[in-house]
Amino acid sequence: KKLGIALVGLGSYSKNQLAPALQQTQHCRLAGIVTGTPAKATEWTQKYNIPAKNVYDYKTFDRIIDNPDIDVVYVVLPNSMHAEYVIRAAQAGKHVICEKPMAITEKECQAMIDAARKANKQLAVGYRLHYEPFTQEVMRLGQQKVFGPVKFVEASDAFRIGDPSQWRMKKSMAGGGALMDVGIYAIQGARYVTGEEPVSVTAQFSPKTEPEKFKDVEETIFWQFRFPSGAVSTSTSSYTAGVERLYASCEKGWFELAPAFGYGPLKGRTSKGPIEMPVVNHQAAHMDGVCKDLLAGKTLPNHITGEEGKRDVRLLQAIYQAAETGRTIKLA
Ligand code: NAD
Repeated sequence: KKLGIALVGLGSYSKNQLAPALQQTQHCRLAGIVTGTPAKATEWTQKYNIPAKNVYDYKTFDRIIDNPDIDVVYVVLPNSMHAEYVIRAAQAGKHVICEKPMAITEKECQAMIDAARKANKQLAVGYRLHYEPFTQEVMRLGQQKVFGPVKFVEASDAFRIGDPSQWRMKKSMAGGGALMDVGIYAIQGARYVTGEEPVSVTAQFSPKTEPEKFKDVEETIFWQFRFPSGAVSTSTSSYTAGVERLYASCEKGWFELAPAFGYGPLKGRTSKGPIEMPVVNHQAAHMDGVCKDLLAGKTLPNHITGEEGKRDVRLLQAIYQAAETGRTIKLA
């Protein structure tokens, strides 16, 4: 059996990554769509052979409760809308996958976790890299101290953003700028190569070079974590120019991924030579990984669930607080 997934929000990520990936998955299939645009409904039902009864808009969405074809609802909306649709999906008795960042505030994350728990359903976050072999290898190298303890990490993710009118440039919809969108990958990277949770953070905004374009959100932000072992990390995230790298310097060597966070193929090397791993479709591997566990009735691994999403949202907020106040923020 394959689980039926309904995609909520048919924007760029659904159209260009998730729907094509769902043509390759073994444990799930594209069974339904939720869209506010009738023309997209027509296009998608034809292209992917989706029956009309599995098509919803944002008003009719809650009726998905009566649809046995849909096992999992995948929320792929602007960040500020994640909480509402995840909660409604859980209330409709469906498992949920929510895109990153899980939400804008920790409070929303908690409400989402509570809704899934109350419905006795599972909640995963779109952390595709946890199912990606190059990433799994650097997690192993760092967490198992293959080159000795990790001493410092450089983790950065940035790109030059196009259309300034998009929701990503509106604080109310995105929760912030580059940090919310791609900086979260650098946070994840520092956490998964050390296998530790940061104990404090400092951060700085860069001066804006395009103040009109970046009226509402940061252009570039830098932050530094300190970890319990004494390891430290430094990160950059930006919407003004690109970088995509995860580097860990250890007592007896180093390893890195560059590119480290995009759709792949990722590329890696260590102080001993290249990292060789199979290249996979990230989205297919992620959805299959989640759905395989759901089909087996297993509890999803903690590092891809709502609890993990909430940990990152808490760190996103702490980074902004550190940059705004200039103070070191302690993380209990
Ligand atoms: P997008 O702008 O391309 O799509 C957003 C969709 O939401 C559109 O179909 C739009 O019509 C719909 N929408 C509904 N109500 C809206 C409203 N009030 N305002 C704006 N749009 C509205 O965005 P995207 O790139 O597909 O990103 C969607 C989510 O997926 C975001 O949370 C993003 O962070 C996440 N994402 C994750 C990855 C990943 O690699 N895991 C990659 C890209 C995006």
